Amino acid sequence: MDQLILKVENLWKHFGGITAVSGYELELPKGAVFGLIGPNGAGKTTIFNLISGVLKPDKGKILFKGKDITHTRPDTIASMGLTRTFQNLRLFPSLTVEENLKVAAHIHTSYSFIHTLLSLPRLYSEERKTLERVETILELFDMQAQRNEIASNLPYGLQRKLDIARALMTDPEVLLLDEPSAGMNTQEAEELALTIKKIKEELDLTMIIVEHRMPFVMGLAETIQVLDYGSVIAVGPPSEIQKNPKVIEAYLGAG
Ligand code: ATP
Repeated sequence: MDQLILKVENLWKHFGGITAVSGYELELPKGAVFGLIGPNGAGKTTIFNLISGVLKPDKGKILFKGKDITHTRPDTIASMGLTRTFQNLRLFPSLTVEENLKVAAHIHTSYSFIHTLLSLPRLYSEERKTLERVETILELFDMQAQRNEIASNLPYGLQRKLDIARALMTDPEVLLLDEPSAGMNTQEAEELALTIKKIKEELDLTMIIVEHRMPFVMGLAETIQVLDYGSVIAVGPPSEIQKNPKVIEAYLGAG
């Protein structure tokens, strides 16, 4: 049996009278790529917010590497090795590509002044690690040529790539991607799909991808979960999901 890196049990979230997530379950084996799809408002982003600790569930349990993280802070969850991107870009627009990556490596670490002084030797060695990581990530994302460019001057497709690159600076084991191809043209999306395949292999990642672009997610994920009104209505390989009458109806009904 595959080792589960992430397990979600009976997760619920309400916003006032709206049930955004109702009884969501997930068993994510280490090394897997799952796709999470569903019509607008189905609850996909809320599930990412719950898993990454941005929101707390009304009910349910989330286990990461066997540890209960249901009520753990987002920065602690990130430092444990689970990180995510957001639908909207979270770049520092006036910093260069390289600076964006460096800042991302330290973003989850907060030191008091005295703590900083006491841990200077460790910070120096972390700085060395950060520089090495910057090179690895720039190479994987094929962005060495842009290292000194200001983020906001990059073409949109590269800005989205940089946003994912930033999420990888903390060396996560699990990466949640929230609509990574949003706003991209077809060529940019195809290039991004190749990059995602490459980083998955090279960095030994486990991933969940929320997407509206069907060819993109069907080409990347080996298992797709379909959500509708906060509940999973189908799970399976892309070939089966595409033919599933319940899935077709959920999408047509949402039009
Ligand atoms: P999309 O594909 O459009 O991004 P989604 O599947 O990610 O949609 P969510 O954003 O998770 O869906 O929203 C699920 C439901 O919860 C929707 O009805 C949404 O309006 C509601 N919702 C989400 N966040 C909040 C919030 N902070 N306050 C109130 N309602 C919310």
